[in-house]
Amino acid sequence: MAVANQKGGVAKTTTVATLGAALAEQGQRVLLVDLDPQACLTFSVGTDPEDLDKSIHHVLLGGVKARDVLIGLADGVDLLPATIELATAEVRLARESGPEQVLRTALRPLRASYDWVIVDCPPTLGLLTVNGLSAASDVLIPLQCETLAHRGVGQLLDTIHDVQRLTNPELTVLGVLPTLYDGRTTLARAVLETIADTYSLDVLEPAIPKSIRFAEAPAIGETVLSTAPASPGAKAYRALAGALL
Ligand code: ADP
Ligand code: MG
Repeated sequence: MAVANQKGGVAKTTTVATLGAALAEQGQRVLLVDLDPQACLTFSVGTDPEDLDKSIHHVLLGGVKARDVLIGLADGVDLLPATIELATAEVRLARESGPEQVLRTALRPLRASYDWVIVDCPPTLGLLTVNGLSAASDVLIPLQCETLAHRGVGQLLDTIHDVQRLTNPELTVLGVLPTLYDGRTTLARAVLETIADTYSLDVLEPAIPKSIRFAEAPAIGETVLSTAPASPGAKAYRALAGALL
């Protein structure tokens, strides 16, 4: 599953880390893939990218096997980490043959080892995100329901449709996941309805509530599932995992 939206700050990385942990709690074998040169996912699950000598960059461009770069995080959760080196990958990938399919090919040997492979896409619609979409069977679009949230959704869907047409006809749009959601405001609900209608997208439930708890967890390499297990945010991601299963 690719988690994609070229807008930054919409909770892509939070969703990958927390949903992954929630699926693992339910006994699923989960691989998290950091495809963002900012390496926020790698950081937020407790690994300092500076300490790594091999990362996804070497898998995509250096002939290193993905299996040799994996980091075991917790029961049932592994990470394919990123470092800032990935920032040079777009240009170098473009010179490969079949540049959209490099991640898909690299992950293929791991597929049988996991129930879920969740890819954290960068906040762009460039070749890295296209690699994420090309490797996935499903795409989940986190969306912050605020004014102007819809700007860019059309472009993202255009990119998804290109990938479906050119490299990955199997790719299914799971829907939009409302994040940082404040359901008390009519604005949030109105924005969500407008976007879902305009683009004929399913809205995944439950919405993930806005909560300060989410800011605290990644600083200590954990998710809200362990730092605030009974919080509405933790419950929402657990319910989402249940719904996906
Ligand atoms: P993206 O990967 O889309 O850029 P992040 O997952 O990094 O987004 O989230 C951006 C910021 O929002 C982070 O500081 C994160 O801790 C915070 N955040 C994520 N989800 C929530 C939430 N439900 N409520 C409050 N803050 C959140
Ligand atoms: Mg991110």
